[in-house]
Amino acid sequence: MTSVGREPLQILLIEDNAGDVRLLRELLKPYGPNRYEVADRPSIQSALEHLLAARADIILLDLGLPDAAGLDAVRRMRTARPRLPLVVLTGMDDEDIALAALKEGAQDYLIKAGLDSRILGRTLRFAIGRHAAETPMAAAVDPLAEDTLNSIGDGLVCADLAGNVSFVNPAAEALTGWSWKDAAGRPMTEVLHVVDAGTRVSFRDTMDRAGAPRRVAQLHPNVVLIRRDGTDVPIEGSVAPLEGRDGRPAGKVLVFRDNSLARARVQQMAHSAQHDALTGLPNRVLLNDRINSAISIAPRHRKKVAVLFIDLDGFKQINDTIGHAIGDKLLQSVAARLLGCVRGSDTVSRLGGDEFVVLLSEVERPEDSAITARRMLEAVAETYSIDHHDLHVTASIGVAVCPDDGINAEALIKSADAAMYQAKENGRHGYQFYKPAMNLRAVERQEVEEGLRQALEREEFTLHFQPKVNLHTGESAGAEALLRWEHPTRGPMLPSLFVPVAEACGLIQQIGSWVMHEACRQAQTWVGAGLRLPSIAVNVSAVEFAGAHFLDGVFEALNDTGLDPRTLELELTESVLMKHAESTNSILQALNAGGVQMSIDDFGTGYSSLSYLRKFPIHTLKIDQSFVREITLAGNDASIVTTVLNMAQSLNLRVVAEGVETPEELAFLQLHRCDEAQGYYFSRPLPALQFARLLHDGIVPTMAARQYVRPLERPPARHASAS
Ligand code: C2E
Ligand code: MG
Ligand code: MG
Repeated sequence: MTSVGREPLQILLIEDNAGDVRLLRELLKPYGPNRYEVADRPSIQSALEHLLAARADIILLDLGLPDAAGLDAVRRMRTARPRLPLVVLTGMDDEDIALAALKEGAQDYLIKAGLDSRILGRTLRFAIGRHAAETPMAAAVDPLAEDTLNSIGDGLVCADLAGNVSFVNPAAEALTGWSWKDAAGRPMTEVLHVVDAGTRVSFRDTMDRAGAPRRVAQLHPNVVLIRRDGTDVPIEGSVAPLEGRDGRPAGKVLVFRDNSLARARVQQMAHSAQHDALTGLPNRVLLNDRINSAISIAPRHRKKVAVLFIDLDGFKQINDTIGHAIGDKLLQSVAARLLGCVRGSDTVSRLGGDEFVVLLSEVERPEDSAITARRMLEAVAETYSIDHHDLHVTASIGVAVCPDDGINAEALIKSADAAMYQAKENGRHGYQFYKPAMNLRAVERQEVEEGLRQALEREEFTLHFQPKVNLHTGESAGAEALLRWEHPTRGPMLPSLFVPVAEACGLIQQIGSWVMHEACRQAQTWVGAGLRLPSIAVNVSAVEFAGAHFLDGVFEALNDTGLDPRTLELELTESVLMKHAESTNSILQALNAGGVQMSIDDFGTGYSSLSYLRKFPIHTLKIDQSFVREITLAGNDASIVTTVLNMAQSLNLRVVAEGVETPEELAFLQLHRCDEAQGYYFSRPLPALQFARLLHDGIVPTMAARQYVRPLERPPARHASAS
């Protein structure tokens, strides 16, 4: 037998229209020169002459030739060359004639309008296959026909009227694993076991239907052939009825081929259109699909759908400082951990950057999604070991539940995103359920963010200064610098409105560095002018502290301005101490070694334990004003203040009470030997000029509190030695 595809197939094109000849040649071009060779002749007469001298494997016959019209052309060619497969070419209108041509013995017909390479190639191969299949079945096998049959690359299996295999070509032998010898006489459906690739349902019907006269049945686009050894291969092809020379049904033929490459390519393309290249997780496109279909299914099972929006805290820093390669690996590890927190029916997707969205498709109660959120927070926060780096990130998660927070994918993701921002504002490493007010806030936040980007260049920031008073001596203990933003349209803005936004969008580093320089510069100016200013306190946010250049920035500010480091005090929040304990400690030790003082701001509102305070070089605790406020009311908070004071004494820490507004509060604090106080009772935060005047004149409490000035001047003696 001839080896597969050894020589180009010889096509004799009988066509008088030069334009159509060009068209057909063009359509065959994509197959390359080794597949097909075309000879064209403009008439029956010239075609017959050509055939005397040259070989042809198939005839493509136009039905409007100068020397034979319509069916006459078919009859003449069939009579002259009965063993050559013949395909009729017609214009759109001649379809009736084309069908009649099939009755005359043509193997197939092609309508010129709308013809493409694929259809042309397929028709040629199938026509050859069908024609040749009739021949070996007949008593006399035309050697040329069998040669052709065996040379085509497609698999071809013929069956007789009873449905039993009568012929298998070499390509089909290779594809099915059945030799012609073994297959002969067996049911065609046994040799060609074709099933749907997904459902594995058998396609016997397609084969049976092909029994109808003149019906060519295409195989379903997604079928696989189960080979003799049980493995499977994706195929494409068609089943056609066979007719004997007498025109009566003789059986059927299946022409097919391996299309695993094409199908794999299609699958690959479909996959990459729907997945994130870095993590392999579904992307936004697929996620939207899944959310929407979960939304439509969940009510049937009386379940809810929840969407979790996850954003990593501190990822950008790692990416910027240690490098993108490690950042990428970190994202992959995070992806794997998130996957470990959900069920198989849930979807973990990556939207890009460090943003992930998780779909929980079957939630009993909304609270259940909180359990998953907590699990994810824990999983993400575990240490990562990547290329000899121990890395730490945490996550902030926003949760939105259908239908309350959105009835389609887009709305749910948006709500979860807004909730995630809130989780960031609440101090990160936490989760937050969506609340309707959040979207409004999201719009506001965006405006603020845009304004912040220009605030530095436009010099819209200033510092105000609020004095701290030494409760033992009544003298100035220093000042706290508080940031103010003069917004071009909104007017003065307090830090609580814009600092969280600056933290979230990364601008806090630049703003913080401006504050540090400005506070040191101003303090040094006052000291240089002979004013008494024992310390200047600067607030440092946790995000700022975690920045790569924070430490250098502090010493740079001190160097540039010439301020004595012992005058500078940094106010840190408890969350700074809670996070990344190792790096925190080394930064604090370096600051301490440089002479800088550290205090814990808003003490009591976080989670600081004694062990934290012992571990780090902290000098001062600032009791949050919420506790001070309650001093003169319930006994409970008063006891918090006294507890802090006692604890501070035992740890040798100085205590500053924040937000002191009334003489009663002051009296209580003095009674319990608090060291310093700060609050409206003494002075509101003031612009630099006014504060300088205050420093010069001395801090005098407001009129109503004059009576308490005296005890300030003569404080009760302390027995404890705490400094
Ligand atoms: P904080 O560090 O605890 O600052 C004390 C806040 O309490 C200030 O609010 C101050 O104006 C206010 N305050 C002082 N005495 C009283 C009082 O007697 N009664 C009441 N009700 N309030 C009093 P402000 O200026 O709005 O600052 C709020 C927070 O913003 C600060 O809290 C601090 O955490 C942050 N912040 C301020 N400036 C900066 C800055 O430059 N950088 C950073 N990262 N954060 C800053
Ligand atoms: Mg402060
Ligand atoms: Mg405070």
